[in-house]
Amino acid sequence: MPASANIPPLALPFVSERAKRTLDLVEEFVEKDCIPADELFQAQLGEGETRWKTIPTVLEELKAKARQLGLWNMFLPRNHFSQGAGFSNLEYGLMAEYLGRSRTASEVRLVLVGATNNSAPDTGNMEVLAKYGSEEQKRQWLAPLLDGKIRSAFLMTEPDIASSDATNIQFSIRREGHEYVLDGSKWWSSGAGDPRCKIYIVMGKTDGSHPDPYRQQSVILVPADTPGITVNRMLSVYGYDDAPHGHGHLTFNNVRVPESNLVLGEGRGFEIIQGRLGPGRIHHAMRTIGAAERALEWLIARVNDERKKTFGKQLSEHGVILEWIARSRMEIDAARLVVLNAAIKIDQRNAKGALKEIAQAKVLVPSMALTVIDRAIQAYGAAGVCQDTPLANLWAQIRTLRIADGPDEVHLQQMGRRENNARKDEVAARLRRQREEADLLLVANGFKKSHL
Ligand SMILES: Cc1cc2nc3c(=O)[nH]c(=O)nc-3n(C[C@H](O)[C@H](O)[C@H](O)COP(=O)(O)OP(=O)(O)OC[C@H]3O[C@@H](n4cnc5c(N)ncnc54)[C@H](O)[C@@H]3O)c2cc1C
Repeated sequence: MPASANIPPLALPFVSERAKRTLDLVEEFVEKDCIPADELFQAQLGEGETRWKTIPTVLEELKAKARQLGLWNMFLPRNHFSQGAGFSNLEYGLMAEYLGRSRTASEVRLVLVGATNNSAPDTGNMEVLAKYGSEEQKRQWLAPLLDGKIRSAFLMTEPDIASSDATNIQFSIRREGHEYVLDGSKWWSSGAGDPRCKIYIVMGKTDGSHPDPYRQQSVILVPADTPGITVNRMLSVYGYDDAPHGHGHLTFNNVRVPESNLVLGEGRGFEIIQGRLGPGRIHHAMRTIGAAERALEWLIARVNDERKKTFGKQLSEHGVILEWIARSRMEIDAARLVVLNAAIKIDQRNAKGALKEIAQAKVLVPSMALTVIDRAIQAYGAAGVCQDTPLANLWAQIRTLRIADGPDEVHLQQMGRRENNARKDEVAARLRRQREEADLLLVANGFKKSHL
């Protein structure tokens, strides 16, 4: 059955015929071209230092094919940007699920997502430039990013502070004449290892004395080859290096850029990061749904493997295993609806009007996927934790989503606070009214009130 035949009925009325055709093309491209290229990508990357200097040729071949098929820059939603392929967030969300079906979370994910120019952090960075950049900034950086010629990194997190509270940021951006001077350290700068990474989008503090703690920060564009920048090391994720993309730990020492590199204006940093992360979270969530689907496929393959029986039966004949399959199916399908609902809400309003739904997807989906992947790992026994299946790497990568882009606890706290504040008075008044009406009914029928 083609992918377009599996669109949940709730989402179907919002999906155009063109998007359905593209969705089927994406599925075919992923299945026939990208997944088979996963191993070749790794082989071409090689070992040791070459992993940070090599761009596997298979990636360029896949990019050329993706372009030819029209599978390019699908992530920029049509109601906010003219530069993309003209799909809604919902339509791209459906495609992102298929983009996540390869060994999504491994380094090889880049074969898939990179092949169609829809990979993080470039997607969010392109959104920043398209939404907030000046015409000159767009010409210089957005155009080559959209063209897939260069890559980018987003530098916000710092090693010496708790970065989930971005008001803690210490990195200094100081104005001197017609320049800004940058000093400080950043880490977990994803994509900074890629030799094609030419531009850093950096958040730092321009005015530590501003009375509003959310107006002290600004965002500035820094070419990666600016003097004074040192890439100290690449950080690993549960031992995986994620090459050639990588997660950099960088130091800036008296780094100077022209004042025209500032994005939007001084003190607008929070506004920019909030505008950046809405649709991006939906993309991550849908790719993660794809990763969970892939884990379920591997689970089903193992439990029906004729060669590997326990106690005289195939694993699928043991009751608990069927329950794992059923639970995985339910959990994936339920989580998908949560993400698609958020995408529809962004399309109908904007990311700001869908904060609750985006946060729900951001927290719910990785936890669901980790549970599904863990069941698949368990079904494989020792094979599940080694390199012979994509599962171990998948688990390691998806696990980071509970931390990256704000840990679960912060999103849950904000969601809980909003829900509580919005409802507490109305809920108390309603329950009081229900109780009063119940008592009136009891008395009218000759009974005593239930409450004193
Ligand atoms: C794979 C990966 C890629 C990343 N890519 C990027 C990138 O490209 N650019 C970038 O700038 N950053 C990136 N990050 C960093 C990421 O955004 C931060 O790690 C995240 O925001 C958390 O900040 P922190 O690590 O400083 O944790 P801290 O702020 O020190 O928080 C530690 C823990 O404290 C707990 N906590 C925090 N607040 C609360 C609360 N209110 N209630 C209860 N508990 C709480 C949470 O459990 C949290 O995990 C990446 C991280 C990973 C793992």
